[in-house]
Amino acid sequence: MKIVVTVKVVPDPNSTKRIDPNTKRLVRSGADNVINPYDEYALEAALQLKEKLGADTTISVVSMVPESSKEVVRKALAMGADDAVMLSDSAFEASDVWDTARVLAEAIRKHGFDLVICGGLSDDGSTGAVPGALAEHLGVPGLTNAKRVDVTDGKLKIQRETDSGYQVVSGPLPAMVSVTMGVGEPRYPSLKGIMGAKKKTIAMSSHAELGVTDALGAGSAKTELLDVKPPPERAKGQVVTATDGAEGAKIIFDFLQQKKLV
Ligand SMILES: Cc1cc2nc3c(=O)[nH]c(=O)nc-3n(C[C@H](O)[C@H](O)[C@H](O)COP(=O)(O)OP(=O)(O)OC[C@H]3O[C@@H](n4cnc5c(N)ncnc54)[C@H](O)[C@@H]3O)c2cc1C
Repeated sequence: MKIVVTVKVVPDPNSTKRIDPNTKRLVRSGADNVINPYDEYALEAALQLKEKLGADTTISVVSMVPESSKEVVRKALAMGADDAVMLSDSAFEASDVWDTARVLAEAIRKHGFDLVICGGLSDDGSTGAVPGALAEHLGVPGLTNAKRVDVTDGKLKIQRETDSGYQVVSGPLPAMVSVTMGVGEPRYPSLKGIMGAKKKTIAMSSHAELGVTDALGAGSAKTELLDVKPPPERAKGQVVTATDGAEGAKIIFDFLQQKKLV
């Protein structure tokens, strides 16, 4: 079985983010870049599946990233993916969700796939819209929010996480599935994995090689970013003093009752 995992490279979630006021885009240069945290879970789900299905299963990473992110993509290979395709071309810059999904779909179709596994959300753009758009562009069923992914008798079966538990959803292959952190902690690359990753293939694919002939990027974006603002500062908390624990508990209880929280 051919599994493709989509991996976005994002600025380190712990770093301070800066928006360029002119382009309204996140400043990525100079930031430490990492694998989008959710995509480590997507990889973990793929590796668990490969362990169950056996050695015939392959895991390929597809990533639309600048060429400078090669070493970040290599970490996915160190975790256990077999190979990677990087879609790196200045023509892809300023792609919105529609174009991102369109380019990823083109590359995935060309590579061949039975199952595409995506993270549920990126740490920077955070629309959560790429997986659904990707399924649409590929013309395959899109199963979302999986905390467990299984393939039995050639059919995909997932546990779909909800606020109150999970639903069991199944569908035919080929398909796309997006995962939650419920799939289990992503494994650390072993020393053997890190050494082995140096010999694995990272293929580079450009705009022309993909055969996407029409416009991409800012010229074809279906969305326009009108404004970007930092979140409002949090209001200062209310400080209360009490003579003893009982009085303190009553003040907290009254406060919660006033807010209709108890
Ligand atoms: C006008 C405009 C211009 C923009 N220009 C840029 C730009 O120049 N550079 C830029 O990075 N963003 C740009 N963006 C933001 C861009 O739309 C999103 O970052 C991108 O489409 C992915 O959406 P997301 O981050 O919300 O992904 P989500 O939908 O939150 O991601 C979900 C999952 O989809 C997969 N995925 C998402 N993106 C990729 C990817 N690139 N490669 C592989 N897998 C992926 C991952 O598995 C991820 O976990 C622009 C947006 C607009 C509106």
